[in-house]
This record gives sequence, structure tokens and C-alpha cells, in this order.
Amino acid sequence: MRTTTVIIGAGHAGLAMSRWLTQRSIDHVILERGEVANSWKTERWDSLRLLTPNWQSRLPGYGYEGGDPDGFRTMPETIAFIERYARVISAPVRTHTKVSALRRSGEGYKVSTDQGDWHCQAVVLATGACNIPQVPALAEGLPPGIATFTPISYRNPGQLEEGGVLVVGASASGTQIAEEIQRSGRRVTLAVGEHVRVPRLYRGKDIQWWMDVAGVLDERYDEVDDIVRARNVPSLQLAGSPQRRTVDLNALSGIGVKLIGRLAGIHQGQAQFSGSLPNLCALADLKMNRLLATIDAWASQNGYDNKVGPAQRFEPTQVEASPPLAMDLTKGEIKTIIWASGFRPDYSWLEVPVLDRKGRIRHDGGVVEAPGLYLMGIPFLRRRKSSLIDGAGDDARDLSAHLASYLGHRASVPRLERQVTPGRSSAPPSSMSASTTTPG
Ligand SMILES: Cc1cc2nc3c(=O)[nH]c(=O)nc-3n(C[C@H](O)[C@H](O)[C@H](O)COP(=O)(O)OP(=O)(O)OC[C@H]3O[C@@H](n4cnc5c(N)ncnc54)[C@H](O)[C@@H]3O)c2cc1C
Repeated sequence: MRTTTVIIGAGHAGLAMSRWLTQRSIDHVILERGEVANSWKTERWDSLRLLTPNWQSRLPGYGYEGGDPDGFRTMPETIAFIERYARVISAPVRTHTKVSALRRSGEGYKVSTDQGDWHCQAVVLATGACNIPQVPALAEGLPPGIATFTPISYRNPGQLEEGGVLVVGASASGTQIAEEIQRSGRRVTLAVGEHVRVPRLYRGKDIQWWMDVAGVLDERYDEVDDIVRARNVPSLQLAGSPQRRTVDLNALSGIGVKLIGRLAGIHQGQAQFSGSLPNLCALADLKMNRLLATIDAWASQNGYDNKVGPAQRFEPTQVEASPPLAMDLTKGEIKTIIWASGFRPDYSWLEVPVLDRKGRIRHDGGVVEAPGLYLMGIPFLRRRKSSLIDGAGDDARDLSAHLASYLGHRASVPRLERQVTPGRSSAPPSSMSASTTTPG
């Protein structure tokens, strides 16, 4: 089978790219191992809501039109939103088609799947950044009898035995899961490493609204001092709830969650924790205050001071001066460990030599170091918002322009037939700008 461009993955990133390729009249297919929005259908816990408000889920030519722009979508709502987008843009998705290998072939690529091979000139990798939970190697030292979950295998507290739970990692997933389990009546200890603290609401507006209007989310990959570091910053401690609650460490200790340092090792049944907790919390408070100062300066310069509430500063994170450095895991107090220690992509099928020694794809803002190969949907790919639903539109516009120009330069040596993909909308969309739904 032949097409000009293969997109691998029918999450929102692959779909946004499809919309732009259609706009540019570039024939393509999307190969998806499961169904549209597969990650949201199969890899998220039951109570999860988006931590980005409804208005912020903007995809090319598509945005929120309901009556609750400041609300947070549940998982069924998120799935319906992405599925509807695929229908609206007539995305040429081949579902239940798992890519098992991607190789160079002549001037283009061969994409091997369990439904046959595709030959194409360009490939967009939109397989997601969160395919595999990062479980630290020290997990191998766990004594027997402790159940373990990750944010991908965890569904709800009903899965867990009664008894204590250790949640490792205090970013978005860890803090949300720790709160839910603590509220289920189990006693939660949260091992806290580096984290990013933000309030849900600031001066009466959602923090995402501020970061959007003040341009923080639009910051480009080639403008930051250290892009490698920026791509590894943990996710914000943020949750979406109808009450718009802040779920930071103070809120968690307020409901009884015990805070402890970063899990540093497990030796002979003893978990060892770093003593850095007070320092890490002080650093997170400092960085939050820096962000709030940036927002305040922007608000003053842009005439918002009289339109929003007064500037706020929040209580420093309260932690024990000397938190415990060890915990005996053989005593039966901890029945479950949740590894909320991050995710990584799965490129086990990628046979093009573009991975660095840490297994990351070498690329410049999504233009991979192999001709005609592009990447979507990873943290800070081209902008701070790149891994968010809201970031895919701008990235897809930029990268599809590069892809079109790449194909154009190759047009004089056509080796692969161009072919119109059945089921694709032939009329170009009238507007490719992201929805202009007014936030807040
Ligand atoms: C717990 C969690 C909460 C999040 N909350 C938010 C939020 O509130 N707001 C927000 O904007 N973002 C959020 N994100 C970030 C981001 O929006 C999601 O990770 C999103 O799913 C990424 O979209 P994507 O299209 O890049 O990848 P995915 O949605 O993961 O899509 C990739 C697709 O590729 C397919 N695929 C993978 N490998 C293959 C293969 N070999 N062959 C064929 N198909 C393959 C998968 O089945 C999947 O459908 C969250 C992420 C996580 C993990």
C-alpha cells in the first residue's frame, strides 16, 4: 500500500497533523493500533479529569462550544471530544493497525504493520509521550507481598487492598492519585521529588488562563536557555475538579497525606528517602512565586489590575524540618506502591537510527534527523504547550509546512505514486486557526 505520508497514532496530535495535511492537499493515512483516542480509553484512571479547562482544548478548526468553558472534562467527555474531531475532519484513520517497524526504504519509508506494509515519502510520529510508565530500577529491591501499580494500571481505590499506600512521585498524576486514595480511607505516604507547584486559581482566574494570555505557554523551544532541561521539567501539580481545588502539598497534608522525601533506594526491605524534602519544597515555592510575579507584571502592563483580583502569595509548603529517612517495608504497613514517577515514549519499533544514547529522538523542534521524518506531541517539542491538546495545532501547522516543502523539493524525483486516500474530505477547510473561544 502506498501513500505520501503516514501518521502513526490517532491521538489528538496525529489528528491535528492530519487536519493540516488535508489543508495542504497532502494525501496521508493515520495508522492506529487501537481506536481513536486510544490512550484516553485504555491508559487513564477512572476519576481523571483534564487539568486544562474546557476552553483550552483547542484543535485546528475545532474548539469548545458548550456552556461550561471553565469546567474540566471527564475521561468519557475527553474521548467523545477527540472522536468527534476525527469525524469532523474526516480523518483517514486505519484503526487496529499496529506499527511493528519503521525503516528507510529507498528515498522514503516502509511502515510495517499487522495489517500489511505501507510505503511513503514522509512519516509523522504521533505515538505519544506517555506510553510506558517510568518505574525506577530500585523497584527490583521491593520485598514480596507489596502490590504495585502505575498511573496506567491504576483505575480506582477499589483495586487496592486495605492498608497503607506509598505513592512515589508528586507531579500531576501522583498528587491526584494520592488525594483520591487518601480520601478512600487508606493512609497515604507521598514520596516527593522535584515538583512544580501552582495554584489552580490566581487572582480569580485559572492559572492556565494566565499562562495562556501572558504567553508563557507559547514560549518557543529555540528561545529557552536549556531546552533539554525544559523538556524534562515535571508536570504541574494541578488537577481538574468541579470545585477548582488546588491540589498542592499543603492541601494533601491537610487531608492527612504524609509527605516524605524522594525515594532514593530500597535495601533489605528498608526504603530510604532523601533528606532534600524541605529544600525541594522551598525551591518549588520560590519558582511558583517567580511565575506569579511574571503574571503580575504582565497584568499591570496590560491593564488587567482593575479587572482581576489583587495579587496573592500563598503559604509556603509546610513540611517537617527532618522528615523520616527510612521506612520498613517488611512490616506490612505499606500494602501498595503506586509508581507515579513519570512516563516515557515507546520507540521499540523504530528502526531508523535517530535515537540518542538516552533513547530520545534527535530532532529540531519536531523535524527529526532523518529526511521526511517528523515528531509530534512530546514535551516542549516546539513550544511550552506542545504536550497539551492546546499545543498540537500550532506545532502541526509549522511541521506540516516543513513537510510540504520537503515533499515539494522532492517533487522532481517522484518515486512513489501519489494517491488519494478514500474517505478524506476533498474540500479544504475554510479556516485553520485554532478556535478563538474566549477563555476565562
Ligand atoms: C495522566 C495524563 C493526564 C493528562 N492530562 C492532560 C490534560 O489535562 N490536558 C492536556 O492538554 N493534556 C494532558 N495530558 C497530556 C497529553 O494530552 C496526553 O498525553 C495525550 O494523550 C497526548 O496526545 P498524543 O496524540 O500526543 O498521544 P496519545 O494520545 O498517546 O496518542 C498516541 C496514539 O498512538 C497510538 N500508537 C502508539 N504506538 C503505536 C504503534 N506502534 N502503532 C500504531 N499506533 C500506535 C496509541 O494507541 C495512541 O492512540 C495528559 C497526559 C497524561 C498521561
